[in-house]
Order: sequence, then C-alpha cells, then structure tokens
Amino acid sequence: MFPHLKGFNLHQWINDNRNNWGQRRVIWEDSDFIAFVTRGPNRRKDFHINPGDEIFYQLEGELNLHYLSNGKPELAMLKAGDLFLMPGKVPHSPRRSEGSWTFVVERIRRQDEIDRFIWLCEQCQTKLYETDIRFDDPSDAVRKASEAMRRDKNLATCESCDAVLEL
Ligand SMILES: [Zn+2]
Repeated sequence: MFPHLKGFNLHQWINDNRNNWGQRRVIWEDSDFIAFVTRGPNRRKDFHINPGDEIFYQLEGELNLHYLSNGKPELAMLKAGDLFLMPGKVPHSPRRSEGSWTFVVERIRRQDEIDRFIWLCEQCQTKLYETDIRFDDPSDAVRKASEAMRRDKNLATCESCDAVLEL
C-alpha cells in the first residue's frame, strides 16, 4: 500500500511488477476510498451489487463491463484510456481477457453496508443464486459460491427456462 501525501507513477509501478502481479493490487485502502489495479484474465459470471459507486479507468487492453439497466442486460466495452462510472446498486460483471488492466476506485463501505453477488440466467435474466458478504470478508465467498454452482448443476439451472449457466 502506498502512503498518503506521496505521489507515484502508476504505469511505472505496473511495469516494475507486471510479471508478479497476482489478480489485483491495492494502492490505498486506509482512506475514504479503496483504489486498486486489477487485471485479466478473469473468469466470472457473477454480478456485483455494490452499495456505493465504482469508478473504472481502463489502462491497457479491453474491459467488457456487463451490467443490468432496469433488469435489461447491457454491455459497456472500455478500451485503454476510457473512464466509466458505475452507479451504486447497479448489478455489474467486469470481464477481462489476458492483457486487460483496470484502475478501480470504490467507496469504503459503512459498517451496516453489505455487498451482494448474484448469478443470472443468460437467456431470461432470472436470478439463479445470490450471496451477501461484507466487502472486506476474507472468506472468498464468491469463489466458493461459483464452485458450488459448478459442482451442482441444479444451482446453475434456470427455473423459468431450463437454461444452464456455464461457469
Ligand atoms: Zn432462464
């Protein structure tokens, strides 16, 4: 984590560490905001419902930012240099391939705020599964929920149209 009141060059930091990055690295979290850089590839079908806003700045490659607008699936495709505000409470699913790098800023959650993750039928948007977690919960609940759906096809099968979500 970087100290406050001290600037640094984001691109330099990425270049110095890009071969050993992991999935994401936090820049600041002891602030009103949590800021991090995350990269692809990722493999996720969950939609995140954040009680607060999120800012995405695409550094390299592309980000396919799926989201629901009044229940209707939409897709924002961010290219390098694109900036995007995802308003709070809008279900969204950022999907990245290899070479995609994104700078993200989120608000630190209040004590009473909970994040929700939902999985939707891709044919008819019926909700298949959901889990609520504190955003700083270390238990990796989203990955576990995803694995449970992969193991038990019933959890990934739509009650309305019988489509099975590929995870
Ligand atoms: Zn369905």
